[in-house]
Amino acid sequence: MPAIVLAAKRERSLLRRHPWVFSGSIQEVRGDPQPGAAVDLLSRKGEWLARATYSPESAIRARVWTFDRDEPLDAAFCTRRVALAVDLRRRIYGGELPQACRLLNGEGDGLPGVVADRYGEVIVVQLLTWGGELLREELAAALREAVPCRCVFERSDTNARTREGLAAQVGSIWGDAPAGTIEICEDGLTFLVDIRSGHKTGFYLDQRENRRLVGSRSAGRDILNCFCYTGGFTLHALANGATSAVSIDSSQEALDLAATHVERNGLAAGSIEFQRADVFQALRRFRDSRQDFDLIVLDPPKFADTKGQLDRASRGYKDINLLGLKLLRPGGELFTFSCSGAMTTELFHKIVADAALDAGREVVVLHELRQAPDHVVSTAFPEGRYLNGLHLAVR
Ligand code: SAH
Repeated sequence: MPAIVLAAKRERSLLRRHPWVFSGSIQEVRGDPQPGAAVDLLSRKGEWLARATYSPESAIRARVWTFDRDEPLDAAFCTRRVALAVDLRRRIYGGELPQACRLLNGEGDGLPGVVADRYGEVIVVQLLTWGGELLREELAAALREAVPCRCVFERSDTNARTREGLAAQVGSIWGDAPAGTIEICEDGLTFLVDIRSGHKTGFYLDQRENRRLVGSRSAGRDILNCFCYTGGFTLHALANGATSAVSIDSSQEALDLAATHVERNGLAAGSIEFQRADVFQALRRFRDSRQDFDLIVLDPPKFADTKGQLDRASRGYKDINLLGLKLLRPGGELFTFSCSGAMTTELFHKIVADAALDAGREVVVLHELRQAPDHVVSTAFPEGRYLNGLHLAVR
């Protein structure tokens, strides 16, 4: 088997079971591995450390799949890893798999770059790295075995694939993909998921528990939901007795689906408004016209993909949080999020604290929020935590 020999002392992170090897840590590549090939990782002294797959174009040159020398990367391996991951979801949710949930969360499940989400009878897969690319059929077969379904659909069309030197790939791996959208149920609410062109694999499953929390704080309140996508937070707020809801997104398609969701769930009775706008401008308009709210959600897209973009991203987060806090009535509450992997929890909290200071509001933290537990984070791979949030109240 081809091998990668690490430079002196570069095995340290692997001994702590971190699964990434950066190009700068490599002393020598032996045996001319092809992209996606399994390679043994060796210390400079020749000790066997782990088995990885090779990504020649990526700064993350190798990703570890197993620390067990006797474990080849084959169909049986995929079956074991997928079964472990699915069993974990069953335990997280008390026996039954939720109809809509994340089944595989990449490195968090020991499957680098492999994501799988369940939407009823369809499983949507993203293979973000070369290793997953070569295990496509084995992974799809393992998923079918672990979870009853009628289609395994691939949505490998993200920037991460470009960084690996892989072309986009969208379509069914197994079974007939349903025409149109898929209906899912979340806390008694129905949502339509567009697996072909929706964001991520079609729905923001990572906010499930946070949507529930927003719902629980919404009765009798005027809500502003910024970056609303297909209306997740709005629906939960309305179903729990919000008096009114203004929801903003820049995507007309997302807003149309959000409006459909309101209708389908029989919630159209209240005062409901969907606005196609840029949130940065809309918040300024509300400030200038002195429109205020009891509860605001700020759930923007990823502002920073890399550490290099953090400065600019920080200014964006500061801006919307400052404006959001200004628009809250006394006693109002803000739910604010960052899904930028490069943004640390500490930095996000500092930005929000600075925003409170500049907004001249006295703010308390009611809850620190994170991604849903099925988006598992391994202790060996803390980078797996990408969603940070705060539930705040102004005095
Ligand atoms: N809260 C949603 C997910 C939000 S995803 C949920 O729980 O389902 C981020 C959304 O922000 C996307 O729908 C995207 O269309 C929208 N968006 C991105 N930039 C924007 C901007 N500047 N103004 C308004 N919406 C924007």
